[in-house]
Amino acid sequence: MARLIFLGSPGAGKGTQAKRLSQTCQVPHISTGDIFRTAVAMQTELGKKAQFYLDSGELVPDELVLSLVEERLTAADVASGWILDGFPRNVDQATFLDDLQQRLDQPIDCVVNLEVPDEVIISRLVQRGLQEGRSDDTEETIRRRLDVYQAQTEPLIDFYRCRQKLVSVDGNQPVDEVTAELAKVLEVGDD
Ligand code: AMP
Repeated sequence: MARLIFLGSPGAGKGTQAKRLSQTCQVPHISTGDIFRTAVAMQTELGKKAQFYLDSGELVPDELVLSLVEERLTAADVASGWILDGFPRNVDQATFLDDLQQRLDQPIDCVVNLEVPDEVIISRLVQRGLQEGRSDDTEETIRRRLDVYQAQTEPLIDFYRCRQKLVSVDGNQPVDEVTAELAKVLEVGDD
């Protein structure tokens, strides 16, 4: 297990689980959301262009996302694998990733779909907004991000199911139990 994608609504726990797995498997955790948030905080050219989309809960346009991902997946530290969190987010991004993987000879091992009911998601995100001060964890933006997820990202569940790469894990349980279940389905060492 060296190349893995996390799917799941905002707030499903992708970041937390991806970070843990990246330590267990010793491969980089690549979060496009983190990359954009850092770019916004540093007010780089990319950050200035992405800020509006992050603040409103919309997807950053593909032309800003795809080159960034290609650059990241050709860096030296990903030779032994990667864990993608927040990418791909729509069918065009997934198709791009398919092509890129073929070019780089980096096939995906598995796509994890973390399942959490919407009502749990909303309360988790409101909580995170209060605790971490994330500017996109306000109730209005949360609703928009959930709509965007359903319209644009959820179709990827079938996209990867058809490729027989998908495993679904119940994300509505205590964090350590999700980690343990993931370790079991992915057959990676935990403890
Ligand atoms: P996340 O931390 O993954 O929930 O991402 C936070 C925000 O960053 C999203 O609401 C989008 O505005 C933007 N973003 C992150 N990843 C992508 C992506 N793959 N495509 C487009 N926008 C993205």
